Amino acid sequence: MKYLFLVFFLLPLFVVSQTNYDLLIRNGKIIDGTGNSWYYADVAVKDGKIVLIQKNISGTATKTIDAKGLIVAPGFIDVHAHIEGGVFENPAAHNYIYDGVTAVVTGNCGNSADDLSYFFFKIDSIKTSINVASLVGHNTVRRLVMGNDNRFATPEEQQKMEALIAKAMKDGAVGMSTGLIYLPGMFSNTAEVMGLAKETAKYKGIYASHIRNEENKVTDAITEAIDIGKAALIPVQISHFKVSGPANWGRSEQTLALIEKARLEGFDVTIDQYPYTAGSTNLGVRLPDWAMAGGQDSLKKRINDSILHQQIINDMLAQLKKYKYKNYSFAVVANHSADTSLNGKSIAAINLQKGRKAGARTEAESILDMMLAGGAQMVYHSMNEKDVQYFMKYPFNMIGADGGVATGKGMPHPRTYGTNARVLSLYVREQKLFHWKKPYAG
Ligand SMILES: [Zn+2]
Repeated sequence: MKYLFLVFFLLPLFVVSQTNYDLLIRNGKIIDGTGNSWYYADVAVKDGKIVLIQKNISGTATKTIDAKGLIVAPGFIDVHAHIEGGVFENPAAHNYIYDGVTAVVTGNCGNSADDLSYFFFKIDSIKTSINVASLVGHNTVRRLVMGNDNRFATPEEQQKMEALIAKAMKDGAVGMSTGLIYLPGMFSNTAEVMGLAKETAKYKGIYASHIRNEENKVTDAITEAIDIGKAALIPVQISHFKVSGPANWGRSEQTLALIEKARLEGFDVTIDQYPYTAGSTNLGVRLPDWAMAGGQDSLKKRINDSILHQQIINDMLAQLKKYKYKNYSFAVVANHSADTSLNGKSIAAINLQKGRKAGARTEAESILDMMLAGGAQMVYHSMNEKDVQYFMKYPFNMIGADGGVATGKGMPHPRTYGTNARVLSLYVREQKLFHWKKPYAG
């Protein structure tokens, strides 16, 4: 009996000394993502889980990585994503993984999957390499109830939208997003969004907003988002914070002051940002809202009507002047499905290629040609580096690429691939705008 006891007693010791991990990452600087200071340690992984973090871990591993001089951190969370289309084409989502991102919040700018319960089911079934959370989109919900109509909601429609928000929140949404420059959210008033935000707040969601204007009326738009937060008692996240158009360059102090003021009053308002002076959205944002109402067929009718055609062009040129652009050379095609040979070219270059005279008016005509052919995804060189840096330093700012899962189509904005790499190399390492956590001094 005595002998048997000894065997039982020794068995666990024998197992521990033979510990064999799948992966050992040695000698790295650990930054654990909780806000703690960094420290040196090894990390042991077994069966897909971190099982030990300490100095000089003993034991062996199938694979060992020497991380001397490198930082070991948990995967980044990208708070502003649009993966609805791409993730089903490319579940590996390489562009996120290579940029350090292992979790995304999608459904931003007012557009989410129509049925989040089904969306999450599908996400589970494809076994994508990223973790996914989703917001429920205001534009998605409004389109389901009211189509792309240019009008306010009736009380019945408001109720229907609130019911859809409630269902999405029960299905697991983390909040509601708006895209108030896009169809059909552009036709909503503040009261409508406030009502939906109140419904979202009942389920402890957040309100993430692509605000109504990022140009000359940017302060009004920020104020609207904060007012919605105050009325609905919901945390507010302002998406891809920026001041856009040469007319507004230098207004970063003024706009960020609104966020800081709300925070000092006790409201939970935060922002996110991608580290570039160019944005990316569709070509339709260059047209007046009224021209877009109803969707593509209605737009075609208006463009083909000679009087409305001129009104659209005039409104486009007025917008250009208001934002202080000289012409459309700041606008570059990321993807024009109808003619991919235009990808990577500016509207100014495309206009000349079409044999038209240089100048904003003829360029606006070239834009309408492209809208008739189905529109395009664009990159707009619309921001100023100093403003980008000013926001970048703000502590209540998160990095969000505003990209999707890359599928190899078109020439997307580089933020799709390089957001975190750029933040860390340019703004942390080179410009020292902010830093990795310093070692604990105590
Ligand atoms: Zn957006």
